[in-house]
Amino acid sequence: MSVTVGIDLGTTHSLVAVMTPTGPQVLADEEGRVLLPWAVAVDEEGHLLVGAAAEARLSHRPDSGARWFKRDMGREIELPVGPERLSPPALSALVLRELRVIAELALGQPVTRAVITVPAYFQEPQRAATVQAARLAGLEVARMVNEPTAAALAHGLHDAERERRVVVLDLGGGTFDVSLLDIFEGVIEVVGTGGDGRLGGEDFTEAIFALAQAEAGLDEQSPPAVRALLRAACERAKCQLSERSRAPLSLPDPTSATWRTARSLELSRPMLEAACRPLLERIRACVIDTLSSARRGAQDIDEVLLVGGATRMPAIASLAVELFDRIPVQGHDPDQVIALGAAVQAALVERDAAVADIVVTDVLSHSLGVEISREGDDRFLPGYFMPVLHRNTTLPVRRVERVWTLHPKQTSITVAVFQGEHRYTRLNTPLGSFKVQGIPLAESEEARQAVDLAFVHDLNGLLEVEATIASTGKTASILIEQQAGRLSPEARERAHRAMERLKVHPRELLPNRLLVEQASAALAGLEGGAQAAVDAALLAFEDALARQHPEAIEAAARVLRELLARVGA
Ligand code: AMP
Repeated sequence: MSVTVGIDLGTTHSLVAVMTPTGPQVLADEEGRVLLPWAVAVDEEGHLLVGAAAEARLSHRPDSGARWFKRDMGREIELPVGPERLSPPALSALVLRELRVIAELALGQPVTRAVITVPAYFQEPQRAATVQAARLAGLEVARMVNEPTAAALAHGLHDAERERRVVVLDLGGGTFDVSLLDIFEGVIEVVGTGGDGRLGGEDFTEAIFALAQAEAGLDEQSPPAVRALLRAACERAKCQLSERSRAPLSLPDPTSATWRTARSLELSRPMLEAACRPLLERIRACVIDTLSSARRGAQDIDEVLLVGGATRMPAIASLAVELFDRIPVQGHDPDQVIALGAAVQAALVERDAAVADIVVTDVLSHSLGVEISREGDDRFLPGYFMPVLHRNTTLPVRRVERVWTLHPKQTSITVAVFQGEHRYTRLNTPLGSFKVQGIPLAESEEARQAVDLAFVHDLNGLLEVEATIASTGKTASILIEQQAGRLSPEARERAHRAMERLKVHPRELLPNRLLVEQASAALAGLEGGAQAAVDAALLAFEDALARQHPEAIEAAARVLRELLARVGA
């Protein structure tokens, strides 16, 4: 049987790792290198170069290929590589194929399945493009994991004995992810995600590069090769400043067509921090935003985890200390931690005994909902998005929302499912649609027919939307595979069957049943105002159960419990 590997597709580098009896381990190529630069180019003879060789060539011939095209995944573009033009998935497939070869040589066996990590911020088209790239490279995607979840697995945080609340700050080459994890009894639950898909270590290099260009008197018109060399020097200086307080930077003569060093500039940490202040402020804002959307305060956090190559910059650790008032954990090599976590997840997918008791739950990275019309002054305005499953909802989940027909004579509705955060559906991503027919005519001119839309989402990216006509119980549904084509037909069928378990009505759940019974029993022994109050609270609870709206159920249950405690029931 071929082994399932874990792959971290970083923005600037990729890595492949595998689970071994002693734990996850990153695999090296024949020259002992573990980081494969995310670069593709062609040499003078038109030979394809991937990884370090491509990166070296691109540093003096930027037009010979492409790099960091992970940012372009999901976009309908083609990038020039020598005489060819390739799509981002096709380019990524070349990188993945190289990783596959590295793994096969290191392991001495075929590799056809992988767990691939993606930034939590990746939208559906970007995830689909990643699956496509893997397929082109001959790899089946066993599971896609958000990068911070992988980081937590690699740090063995699931072994915690007491409940811990963790924040993962992942600053890679091109993305910044913030994740809030709750870890309890071996279960890692992602309770919130946020970040910025266009903020990373490369932006810090760009900030130094801008400063260096201004110092050297270079601009956009300057020779590309000279500018590329200066940028590479800025990247080196940035990394040196993580180890020491000062770093020299050679500046070129702006009048020369080729590199000629004119003078040297001594960069210091305060200079770097001043140049990067706006970037640090964006990071701070992202963290605060993620905490507040998950209704968490910095003081609730027990542990801060730094991952991603760019968190080696001392300014990031200082910012973490400032924000959370605690020293962050940076145990592993921040470049490797995600790949190691992907390997842990790969073993989990293979149901490796060593990790059998780790359960990972995940959250929705984007809201899912339907298109509705809203009532204007004298007519209905179409094209509005009504989220049913909100971003950051813990998976798996089932939630029901009720919609109504617009006209008494309406006998069908189209349920159009979208993903995104915008109030207009045209700005969100369409996932699929279906028609519900056979809605009975409403009884009067004012009456409308209700249709309940149940959204069920599992951990494999399967979404089932089922519409039930409230008055007749007639249903219609659609099954959407969020990472299209990732599941084999059998796996899809299995996952779909498993989803049925989620369809338990909240009324049937034990705590809810017990509460209804307790309140009913209390009613029998109460009189007057106390009885009326419990009766009203029980009714509200039953109504919330009928609507299957978790927040409403929780709120109504709390009111009822408090009331029962007060009346001594
Ligand atoms: P990753 O995508 O996690 O591999 O992160 C790559 C980013 O980390 C790039 O922007 C690198 O410039 C940056 N990086 C790597 N090593 C260092 C270092 N020692 N100091 C600062 N940044 C670094």
